[in-house]
Parts: sequence; C-alpha cells; structure tokens
Amino acid sequence: MREFQPSATNAVNAEMNRMRKAGVRIYNFGSGDPAVSLHPAIVREAELAVLEKGSPYAPVGGLLELRQAAADWMNRRYGCKYGIEETVVTCGGKFALFAALAVLLDPGEEVVFAAPYWPSYPDIVRLAGGIPKPVAVTEDCAWKIKPEDLLQAVGKKTKIFLFNNGCNPTGALYTKEEVKALLDAAAKAGLWVISDEVYSEIVYDGAKYASCSSFPEHAARVVIVESCSKNFAMAGYRVGFAFGDPKIVKNMIAVQSQTTTGTSRVSQRAALGALTHSEPAAKLVRDAMDKRRRLFFKTYNELFGTNFPMPSSALYFFVKIEGSCEEILKKAHVALVPGAAFGMEGYARFAFSESEEDIVEGLNAFRD
Ligand code: PLP
Repeated sequence: MREFQPSATNAVNAEMNRMRKAGVRIYNFGSGDPAVSLHPAIVREAELAVLEKGSPYAPVGGLLELRQAAADWMNRRYGCKYGIEETVVTCGGKFALFAALAVLLDPGEEVVFAAPYWPSYPDIVRLAGGIPKPVAVTEDCAWKIKPEDLLQAVGKKTKIFLFNNGCNPTGALYTKEEVKALLDAAAKAGLWVISDEVYSEIVYDGAKYASCSSFPEHAARVVIVESCSKNFAMAGYRVGFAFGDPKIVKNMIAVQSQTTTGTSRVSQRAALGALTHSEPAAKLVRDAMDKRRRLFFKTYNELFGTNFPMPSSALYFFVKIEGSCEEILKKAHVALVPGAAFGMEGYARFAFSESEEDIVEGLNAFRD
C-alpha cells in the first residue's frame, strides 16, 4: 500500500479546504465538480426516498428500476440494446472502473491508456492487480491516441485498452470514425476495451457524443463506464454505472457484494430522478458549463494575449505553465492540479466548473 498515492485532485482539494478554513479566499480551478443546482426531479426523488419509513439495503447491483432507466438512457442515445442483466449501478464511475478491472485482469496483465490521463487510472489498475501502461499523446494530435499508437504499445501481457472519450484533462472528443478505428485496432490485438464515458453529456457546440456502445460488432469485449457525477452534477451522490456482457456484470456485482454493497438507496433514487429526466437534467449542467467555458477562454485569452481554442467536451483546460502549482496556490490563492498528476510534467489543469465570479477574479489573481 505504500506505493499508492491519494488522488492528486483530492489532495489539492484537501489543501484548498485547509486554507479556506483558515479564512483565505481561494479561487478553485482544482476540482472538476459542476457547481450548479440540481434538476428538481433529482431533488424530488431523493426527498421521497428520505421520507420513506425505512431504508433497507438496496440490491447490490442496484435498484431494478434504476438499472432499467440507465439501460434506457444508453439505448436512447446510442441505439444499443442493453437490458438489466447488462447493467450495474456502482459507487460512482470510479468504482465501476475498479470493479471492471478487477474482474477482467489477471495479476501482472497490462492496461494501455493515453497520457495525459485521469490521475486515478494508474493506481486503480495497480489496485486491481494490473500494470499501467500509459502511452504519451501530444497536443499536435489534439491529445488523441491513434490506432497505431495503441497497437505499438501492445505486448504479450496487454489485456485492456482503457479509453477516455470526453477526456479529463484535455477535453479531447473523438469522432465516431476515430472511435471505430480504435475499437477495430483493439479487436485486432485481442484486447478488451473499458470505455470511460463519464463526460458523455458534457459536449459542446452541438457535437454528438460517439459512444463505444454504438458498435454491436464490438459489444462482447466492451465495458462502458458512465456516471451521474458530471453529467447531472451529482458527484456527491456517488452513482455510476457499467454496461457490458452479463457475465462481466454478474462478476462486478460479486465484487460489489464483498466491498461496497452497492451505492446508497437515497442516491439511487436521486439518480432515477435524473435518468427519467435525462435530457433537461443534462442540458441544465451543459448550458451552465458552456457559459463558464466561454467566459474562461475569453478572459484567459484576453489576459494573456493568447488564442487558445475551447475544448469540445468536459470541464478543463490543460496548459503549459511555468512554476509550481503549490506555489501558485500559496501566493495567488489559485488552486490548480499539476500536470505531473496526469502523467505530463510542465502542464497544469484548470477546471472551469466553479462560479463565473471565481473564473474572472481567479484568472486575474493568477495573472498577477
Ligand atoms: N473518469 C474520469 C475521466 C473522471 O474525470 C472522473 C472524475 O473526475 C471519473 C471517472 C470518476 O467519477 P465518479 O466516480 O465521480 O463518477
């Protein structure tokens, strides 16, 4: 366990909260947590669940009506055909990733993913007994991994391609053609694909999200990870999902039964509120985040005389910076996450998911 690090974003949050408690005004560009009011349907369902007489354990794989609603949410958007047996409710996307890896990996098998990556990937892979194999991608390629990069990284022990479309930290969004080419390459190499799609509803400028679930020819070896955290601004509720082959899902439920016992009943009911109103609930978050994205880039480009394009998805701006994020937090009271946490030194990640006021005042403090 000595080799594991607490999540870098959680560590930034902890330091930020410590300073806030001491009365310091902090500009939070650290956590990618959409700060918006919840859609009323979410609140209503949560309230109803709280007011019920008791709160027995929920089924370990999730409330049946939520599993069905989650499957419907996928099928509606992507034309796939998931049912309850192919759907599991988890404690956030993070546990879905862990459980899928724990089920699929034999000790010492490798998992390939693009770097920069979401900071938890390497340690989740290690916790599940695997070996992380990051593949560096560059800004010149719009931070996207290409089929040839993937194939080049595959060795005898490589089992899984962990794919993040709607990328944290770069905002890279893959087209349907690009997704298909990667799935074809993974199939050619005999890999499983775990597709982290937790930002699927947070895509901008009318783009259509391309999910790995819309390719029936690859369905047998694809596990989709989804979440309510970002899509519906419900990070604190801890509700995620995985979709895939019923045997995999059954084993993931077994992992849950000996670890988390599934996520809370109240949270699941809240998620049901979100998924049965998925379009307006997601639009509410997307519109608020789009407004902040535009304000962030307008302010940043004006202050620094730059011309950075806006990312197509997610909540982040990944940029080269000089100096340490620790010092920036101490001196400017601006919380960022250092690029090293994403496997890319010399960069930092700004999240633009906080208030508009924080964006303008925080970027000015950063410039000063
Ligand atoms: N995957 C990516 C790329 C993320 O950015 C996050 C959260 O920041 C997650 C998965 C997990 O989110 P959660 O466990 O809150 O659903």
